[in-house]
Amino acid sequence: MRSPIQTYLDELHQSLVGLDEGALADYIPELTKASPDWFGISVVTMDGVAYTAGNADQTFTIQSVSKPFVYATALADRGVDIVSSKIGVEPSGDAFNSISLDPQTGAPRNPMINAGAIATTSLVGGADSSAQWQRIASSLGAFAGHDLAVDESVYHSESATGFRNRAIAWMLKNFGVVDGDPMAALENYFRQCSLLVDCRDLAFMAATLANGGIHPVTSQRALPAEHVERVLSVMATCGMYNYAGSWLFEVGMPAKSGVSGGIIAVLPGRFGIGIFSPRLDIKGNSVRGIEVCKRLSRDFSMHVFSRDGHPSMALGRIYTGADAPSRRQPFAEMRACLVSHAHRIKYLCLHGYLAVDGVEYIIRKMIHMSTDAHSFILDLHQVDGISDCAARLLNEVRQSFGRNGTAVVFSRIHARRAITVPLKRAVTRGDRGYLSFEDNDLAVEWCENRLFGETEQPPQAVTSLADCLFFKGVPVELMQKVEAAIKVYAFAPGDHIVKAGQVGDSRVFFIESGQVSVLVPLQDGAHHRIASLGPGMNFGEMVLLGQTTRSATVCADTAVTCRVLESRDLDNIASEAPVLKIVLLENLAGNLASSLRRATQWIAALA
Ligand code: GLU
Repeated sequence: MRSPIQTYLDELHQSLVGLDEGALADYIPELTKASPDWFGISVVTMDGVAYTAGNADQTFTIQSVSKPFVYATALADRGVDIVSSKIGVEPSGDAFNSISLDPQTGAPRNPMINAGAIATTSLVGGADSSAQWQRIASSLGAFAGHDLAVDESVYHSESATGFRNRAIAWMLKNFGVVDGDPMAALENYFRQCSLLVDCRDLAFMAATLANGGIHPVTSQRALPAEHVERVLSVMATCGMYNYAGSWLFEVGMPAKSGVSGGIIAVLPGRFGIGIFSPRLDIKGNSVRGIEVCKRLSRDFSMHVFSRDGHPSMALGRIYTGADAPSRRQPFAEMRACLVSHAHRIKYLCLHGYLAVDGVEYIIRKMIHMSTDAHSFILDLHQVDGISDCAARLLNEVRQSFGRNGTAVVFSRIHARRAITVPLKRAVTRGDRGYLSFEDNDLAVEWCENRLFGETEQPPQAVTSLADCLFFKGVPVELMQKVEAAIKVYAFAPGDHIVKAGQVGDSRVFFIESGQVSVLVPLQDGAHHRIASLGPGMNFGEMVLLGQTTRSATVCADTAVTCRVLESRDLDNIASEAPVLKIVLLENLAGNLASSLRRATQWIAALA
């Protein structure tokens, strides 16, 4: 199926092809060789999908769109203090090629005008200008996701005619902004402007900034995260020549344009956009490029100050341990306890990326529920990541609930680093850390045990088969025959007592002591626990209904002893006394009915 996003971009492209206002830049002679009709659009997502329309493969020289990336490189190499001491971050109001410095600071006003950009190029790390050039080329290549070549004819064309930029470079030398040879720095600047890209490359470079400095496909870090906001801030205020204020007002994305007709726009955390169309307006911005961004911003609500979501979206379903109890079969005392208290176990299903606003909302709901809460299970299955400050808030709420006797535990994190790293970072000194469970069944069982209280011990062992619910109602003399046919087996913790898929085993197991888990294998090799069973309970009884293949694995959680009966021994006894079979089938049917009721209850809670 064709994506509606692709259809939208094609239509957008089509609707602007006829827009032929503006003119090619001609002060660099080579640039006049571009076709004025070239027009490409590309939008790249944070997981690296590139949508394109029009001349997406047409290459052109990057020109001033290189400036934010070289600024990023200088910040990474020299640190914010040194770079800020040489170059300001104020919008200038002057032309991009103005031969002026800030009268107060004596520094270029910002890194997006030529004076600031040439100074920036001179600051990039490297022992000499050729090492600096290698660094610039490899850094911009990391943003694009592949090496970028220089268009030698554009480079020579600009170098041969760039007298004004030479004047700027000597001015920078005169005022001590550039330390070394200003002409060497300038040649590097001309070369950086002559790197060849297409609009897809621009969109990937923008997407790398949107993605916190990491290229969405190669996963290479092109820029330390701490500098990303700085680069985007300068782009937001100074990126679009003297149109920057109106741009922020109307489009609202950090952006940068260049005289060859390229524009990048960045929607942090969401999209990178690259457009190429060489006809420029009088302010030097691509006419169609601006129009594309205005439409995208309007149609997809892409203004950085607009907000579609609501904090409440971080919280999905809420239910309790009464709606969805653990799948363990509780013994009588615990069952009684759960009937009156299981609603005090609160499950909260959290969604999406958890930032401060969403977590504030969740905490408010937890506080609201805290009057009768005994524990909270925060199910993180649908969470993509947590911000550090949100993780700190969750950690604080966990600790303060803990001090009041209410446990807060996590479930279904599944070792996802976007969750585990911030959660671990938030754990404070002297704090024992958070408890997290592989699945909700284990989490709720832990909460049920806690509710029941550590002081009350579950029954240690069942010594007579007659105590098993399975044999309820079987006459005493028949029980004696059954007991005579029994064998006793012992298992160590971790032993697989039966295995899913195993064929031909027709034993029925009765647990005398210990605890087992019934596990259903999942496709990815993991397990889903569907029940936990203890003394007096049985498993494997489906053979009595003719099931010959085991449907689940049963694993000993502790040391376990089982009494084991072959189904044919039962059949032998029943052939003389059919009442045995009748009673057992009745018990089995009752058991199945109650499993079905529990499953229905679960489905209702999850619906
Ligand atoms: N290389 C061009 C110059 O310095 C870049 C200008 C631009 O794209 O704004 O004049």
